[in-house]
Amino acid sequence: MGKFCAKCGSEIEKDATFCANCGTSTDGKAEAKVVESSNSGETRNGMATAGFILSFFVPVLGLIFSIVGLNKANQLGGNGRGLAKAGLILSIVWMVLSVIASIIYYMVVIAAAVGSSYYY
Ligand SMILES: [Zn+2]
Repeated sequence: MGKFCAKCGSEIEKDATFCANCGTSTDGKAEAKVVESSNSGETRNGMATAGFILSFFVPVLGLIFSIVGLNKANQLGGNGRGLAKAGLILSIVWMVLSVIASIIYYMVVIAAAVGSSYYY
């Protein structure tokens, strides 16, 4: 025995959560979450948020996510653009700093190696 949609009256599969025809949930209370997230989910820029957070921990991933987030922000009419830019700048700054830090590190190591070869 099948269920019927409270909104449009079309038959719903027994274990279906939402009406395939109009997207109303089977309890008839709210619009389908799936439909909601695929539509209004577009207004939230998860990639920008992920890029911003990742830029603190994994700058390379943060950079990639921020670039994707920035592209998505342009598609969304600017949603999350600031966050994506912040993530982009942060990850670039982190990468530049880590490159400078490793250059200094190797210079010190080389200087120490050269220095020790001079003295011995
Ligand atoms: Zn329906």
